[in-house]
Amino acid sequence: MKKPAKPARENISPSDLTFGLSTCKRCLWIKYWHKVIMPLAMPLVGPLSSFQENIFRGVSTLDIDPSLRPGRVTKLGEFVKSKPFIINGETTRWSVVGKYDLVAENEDGTYALIDCKVSDNARDSGDFYSPQLHAYTYAMERPATGTPMAIASMGLLVWKPNRVIGTNAESFGFGVAQSYIPVQRNEQAFISVIADFISVLEGPCPDAGPTCPTCNYLTLRLELED
Ligand code: SF4
Repeated sequence: MKKPAKPARENISPSDLTFGLSTCKRCLWIKYWHKVIMPLAMPLVGPLSSFQENIFRGVSTLDIDPSLRPGRVTKLGEFVKSKPFIINGETTRWSVVGKYDLVAENEDGTYALIDCKVSDNARDSGDFYSPQLHAYTYAMERPATGTPMAIASMGLLVWKPNRVIGTNAESFGFGVAQSYIPVQRNEQAFISVIADFISVLEGPCPDAGPTCPTCNYLTLRLELED
């Protein structure tokens, strides 16, 4: 595949460090060099996320989880952009840009980053989302503009739907089990993920993976049309 003189976008999306890296890298490469993005059908994700986020506006961190430092959720859904990544002493063209879910301001002047999920997928662990949360933290601590924020903790706030509540069409809803999953800081591991990611992006277009149902579907379709 042709590689243009310049990528179509140089801002790495935090979610590409989880979902993008869990498949083959070809779709990612095409997204960043050509801005051609595979359409995804996730109609409930947006509404469920905003219900969840809005519930926590102004809430005490200790009501979210007693392990957090005392503070209060003061910021919701704001975009952050980092300075360009420096890998092996060289400044790259790549930065991270993303919109976090919740940030709490702690009483000691530090901040807590909280990422909201509505899910019953066992994959939704701290390890799986660690690069995504590190990416937001990286952007807040090394912002392209403005004052750096000291992030004291990162974690997932998971709502797992587990029952139906209400008695009639006017009151039916889903009940959830809520859990807070702390994610430990490991800057070195994050920089290593970013370095691999950037080296894939700067290289030639990768081959498609053998097990991806989407590419296999497209190959079968193209064979039919020959
Ligand atoms: S196998 Fe094909 S559809 Fe799947 S991630 Fe790779 S390029 Fe994208």
